[in-house]
Formats: sequence, C-alpha cells, structure tokens
Amino acid sequence: MITIEDLVRGGKAGAAAPAKSGGCASSSCGSSGGPDDLAPHIWEKVKDHPCYSEEAHHYFARMHVAVAPACNIQCNYCNRKYDCANESRPGVVSERLTPEQGARKVLAVAQAVPQLSVLGIAGPGDALYDWRHTRATFDVVSRQLPDIKLCISTNGLALPEHVDEIVGMHIDHVTITINMVDPEIGAKIYPWIYFQHKRWTGVKAAQILHQRQMLGLDMLAARGVLVKVNSVLIPGINDEHLVEVNREVKARGAFLHNVMPLISDPAHGTWFGLNGQRGPTAQELKKVQDACEGGAKMMRHCRQCRADAVGLLGEDRGQEFTLDKLPETIMVDTADRDAYREEVERKREAHRAAKAAAGALVREARDACSLTVAVATKGDGLVNQHFGHASEFQVYLADGAGVRFLGARKIDEHYCKGGLGEDSALAGIIDILADVDVLLCAKIGDCPKVELAHAGIEPSDDFAYEFIEPAIAALYARRRAGAPADA
Ligand code: SF4
Repeated sequence: MITIEDLVRGGKAGAAAPAKSGGCASSSCGSSGGPDDLAPHIWEKVKDHPCYSEEAHHYFARMHVAVAPACNIQCNYCNRKYDCANESRPGVVSERLTPEQGARKVLAVAQAVPQLSVLGIAGPGDALYDWRHTRATFDVVSRQLPDIKLCISTNGLALPEHVDEIVGMHIDHVTITINMVDPEIGAKIYPWIYFQHKRWTGVKAAQILHQRQMLGLDMLAARGVLVKVNSVLIPGINDEHLVEVNREVKARGAFLHNVMPLISDPAHGTWFGLNGQRGPTAQELKKVQDACEGGAKMMRHCRQCRADAVGLLGEDRGQEFTLDKLPETIMVDTADRDAYREEVERKREAHRAAKAAAGALVREARDACSLTVAVATKGDGLVNQHFGHASEFQVYLADGAGVRFLGARKIDEHYCKGGLGEDSALAGIIDILADVDVLLCAKIGDCPKVELAHAGIEPSDDFAYEFIEPAIAALYARRRAGAPADA
C-alpha cells in the first residue's frame, strides 16, 4: 500500500511556508468523468475526445478546419474578420479553406500527428448555417479516416433542421453556444439574427434564437448525441444568469457545460471590445463555474481554440500545416494512430491508478488545509515542461475533497526567449498565478525561482517527469508536515 509518506520519501525537512489558498469546498467540483462514473457506451464515445473527457485531453489532439465562413447571427463578442463566434476566441484564422482543401489538410495532419482523434468544424462562421461546406468536408474525411470523430460547433439557430443529417452522419458530439435563457439578456448580446430570410433584432431576435437552441438541444439529446453547451461569461450581462442556464441545459440533457471567459479587446474590433466591455478575471470565472457545480457537469479544461487550431489542447501547430506546406501526396494509413492509441491505453491505466491513490491519500488526511498548484506540462499527465517554455499552466487544488483540476491559465508570452529570460513575461506570469501556492515544472532557472518565491509562489522541479496528482499529494503532505515545496 502507498502511504502519503511514500509519496514524500526523500524530501528534506524545512521551514513551513504560508498557505494562501481559500479553495473550493465542493466535493463534486472538477469531477473528470471516467470509466467508473460514466455508462460504458458514453465512455466509449468520449474516452479519446480531448474536449469531452478531461482525462483524454492529456493525450489526444483535435483539429479545426475553417471551411464554414458564413454566419446567421451577430454576437457582440465576435468579429468574423478575425475569428469565430461559437468558440469565442477572437484570434485570426490564417486560411479559410474550401472543403477539398480542408479535407486534404485533415488527411495530412492525421498522417503527421498520431494523437489526432477529433475533427471539429467551428466556423469561423456557423458550421450548420454553412452546412454545404461542412458536410462536403465531413463526407471526404469520414470515408478516408473513419477512426476520426466528427464534431460540430453551432450557435443553434439552424440546428433543428439538421438533426437528422447529424445523426445519419454519425456526428456524436455537438457544441451549442448558449449564453442566455432569458431573451432580455440575449438582446444585450445579439444585435441581430437572420432567420427565415429576414433579419430580426432586439428581444424578438433573442427569443427566436433561444427557442431554436432549446429545440435543437432537446432533439439531439433524444437521439443520443452528446451535447456540450458553451457559454461566454460576460461580466455585468450574464454572470449571475449562467447558473440558470446551467440548470436549464442540464434538465434538457446537455452532457457538459463549458463556461468560458469573454475575451475583449478594442483591437479585435468587436462591439464589446470597442465599447469597453471587460472580460472576467480568472477568479470571477472560477466563482461562476463553482456556482454551477451540481448541475450540468462543468468543463474546465477548454482553451478557447482558434477556428483553425491543430494539436493537443493548449498547443497550436496550425502553422506547420498551412496549405503551402501540405505534401503533394498524402498517405492514408492508420498504423501510427493505432500504435499511439495502444500506448495511451497503457499510460492512462497507470495514470488513473496513480491519480486515484493520490486523491485517496489527500482525502484520508481529512485536513482543512488546501493547496493550489500550477503545473507546467506538455501532456501525458506528467510534470514535464520547463518553466521558461510553458505557454500555459494547469492549475489544481488539493484539499479535503482530494486533488482536482481547476483549469488552464494561458500566459501572454513565454519566459524564455532564445535562451534568455524576459522580465516583462515573468511579471505577467506572476500576475496570472497570484493565487497559486506552488508551481511545479520539469526545470527552472535561479532567477525566476527567486522572483516567484518573492511573490509567494514556491517553485519546485523536484517532481520532474512524475505524474501530476501524486506530485501534488506529496506536496500536500509536505505542507502539512511543515516543509517547503522543494524540501
Ligand atoms: S475551444 Fe474548447 S471545446 Fe473547443 S476544441 Fe478548444 S478546448 Fe475543445
């Protein structure tokens, strides 16, 4: 039997470090949904989907192809000259593709990235309003790569009339962006919609959109399609309303609810950006996500990807696969993906066992203490990235309820540039991790170590290349024993 002492064996005694976490006390907070708590046929659908399974996001990659530029609504957070509304990430789409180009790109990525398990169409407009393009792309990909899951993201306005085709094409995963269930609130988010050959505005437009979203969700749930609901958290507009959205979509059979922060900047040219509407802080986001716990299961690992993203969540390899870089001849062969999936099955078994043991040990301690830990990781569930190379940190909480994932925090720029540390980047990282107690990474230089410690964040590379949750359980034990993270 592993004990908490086994996890910390080898650590040195030292002075106690002050804890600063408040932490969430909910025991269901951050439940990852695995083979033990999902029906087997559901687990089979989600186990390799990096967005629908928190566990899978450590191992599997998704890609989006930007083949659907047309949209039937206007959201105040979206400017399609830059990107898509449905995933609410106002970055630039590098290339809009025809279905033939899109399918070619998918075949090329599948050959080069064995982690690929999902193809999603998330705009940059609406995948269902622009259905001709979406379907043509999926037709080729499903014929050539039947092992790749197909996924759609939509605002829901054109959803009801497409449900039969969605089911017929074996599209098991659909995301609907639902920001309100009250049209009065909707009128503050959507200036207009285009429906039945007519442009609608104001509360009437939001009413139509709401009815179509609810009808589409009901129809998909009745046909066994897994629905993820994305909601953009807009402070002062729908922040207090999203708990009601969560309740409503759960009652209608949504599988997951993904509350995402509004990203707002005048440079994006959106109505919100130009009119000073701010996005929420990480703490405000967490508060709403925590308030929704107990309803539809929360997704906390979303990265608000671009409509042309490629790779593991949190990395973007899109620039490796622009049209001019695609090979002339593309082989279609599943050997590498099959071998990778077999390897992942072995790895995740070991990871699951280590994670369960770590959670049980922290819970056994029955301690009031809580510890918030940021982790630099490149995947596989390991502490395996250098501090200076990280473009995001995964944040976990250890407390009386166990060890659980709270979310990923992106940073604006890497600390390490061309072998040198950037002070301005470090200041930004410290700001983003202000509520974190300990930072785990594979390696860290002396300079950032000192600065982080000054800011009250203990850096540690003691657990390099170990599984994340046991490392956190060991830290938790050290903290209870009064030793610092790098003891
Ligand atoms: S935006 Fe979120 S849900 Fe969509 S692919 Fe990225 S991580 Fe998954």
